[in-house]
Amino acid sequence: MKFKALLLTTAILFSSAAWAETAWAETDAELIARARGIHDRVITVDTHVDIPPNYGSEAYDPMKPGPRGQQVHIPTQIEGGLDATFLIVYVGQGELSTIGYASALSDAMIKFAAIHKVAEKMYPDKIEIAYTADDVRRINAAGKKVALIGIENGYPIGEDIDLIDLFYDYGGRYFGHTHIGHNQLGDSSMDLSRNLSEPAKPLHGGLSALGKEAVKRCNQVGIMNDISHAGKQTALDIIAASKAPVIASHSGAKGVFDHPRNLSDEELLALKKNNGVAQMVAFDTYLRAVPKDKAAASKALLEEFNIKEMSDMGKLTPDQLKAYRAKADEIELKWPKAGVKDLADHIDYTVKLIGVDHVGIASDFNGGGGIVGWNGAGETFNVTLELVKRGYTEDQIAKIWGGNLLRVMADVEKYAAKTKYNKKRGKV
Ligand SMILES: [Zn+2]
Repeated sequence: MKFKALLLTTAILFSSAAWAETAWAETDAELIARARGIHDRVITVDTHVDIPPNYGSEAYDPMKPGPRGQQVHIPTQIEGGLDATFLIVYVGQGELSTIGYASALSDAMIKFAAIHKVAEKMYPDKIEIAYTADDVRRINAAGKKVALIGIENGYPIGEDIDLIDLFYDYGGRYFGHTHIGHNQLGDSSMDLSRNLSEPAKPLHGGLSALGKEAVKRCNQVGIMNDISHAGKQTALDIIAASKAPVIASHSGAKGVFDHPRNLSDEELLALKKNNGVAQMVAFDTYLRAVPKDKAAASKALLEEFNIKEMSDMGKLTPDQLKAYRAKADEIELKWPKAGVKDLADHIDYTVKLIGVDHVGIASDFNGGGGIVGWNGAGETFNVTLELVKRGYTEDQIAKIWGGNLLRVMADVEKYAAKTKYNKKRGKV
């Protein structure tokens, strides 16, 4: 026994000495240079970047870094090495009625049109829409930025499943069934009628019968089903109903921080079994607990300027906006947001739980996302640097930064091709 123990100690001593030597051999400058090389070689895919309805207008010209709050532009993407972004057709949850659905559909179509306008009319030599995983690689190799389209909230389809076909034809490649608030497709992780930090009160108890049809249609046309924002049971129902791998486009891990928007171990393990991917999101309040005093100060600020949702910001006069931002800056200075290390903690946890083949990254830029160190496309390298510091290899970083997502996308394409559904409707 003694001899065995001695052998073990010797082995540990040797291996730690070898480790110390390697760590010592690489200077900070060398590590940064190595990370820079990795960052330049891998394809970086951010699966969640919101766009306002005026994307592609003078107010948000993707070639001209403009006002604060706009966190992604083509020049800052080039500067920060952010290759591909899923631009989001998001519509907020409203009334479950014919008129509510019609107005949501019109809002969704405005966003689809804005993305096509930017890529096809304004800057076709700089950015191109990818419809397949192979497109992403081809466009990136050609030196252009890659735009993909994700749908956040299935609300705009109303009760017409065929609208999923239309969304596919307009380039939609993932479909998040719910946003904040339950809808006709299923229960959300957050219930609009209650305090958002409380657990949601069920409406359907998971995915509705119509929601199941939506999952099936996404599979048939070749759209990735997305469980981010869905309630736990809805998420598990989506995974169970889907015939192809599923994604969580922008969420955190509940095991690191217990927030309704984060994924439980049970959901993460179900994603692994389904060969899907969970994209960890750089969203301050999902990454770690916000200091109580900061939460109180932020709430008071919103009340002072009568801001109930993001769109209310547009109602402020220029002077009010200036005053609001000065006060918001004071709060941020006093209590800084979560940082890249917090994001990496969620990545580490999820990699340990479900493996490096099932984890990815999302920013939620322009939609409340952004953290200290990654607060815009221009700072994207910092995420890679942190992963390198934590010991991830180039192969692992390539998977996390987009390889896994592209694998799922290709699997979803393959399943759809087998169904011949698009062929039947004359769309291949
Ligand atoms: Zn979201």
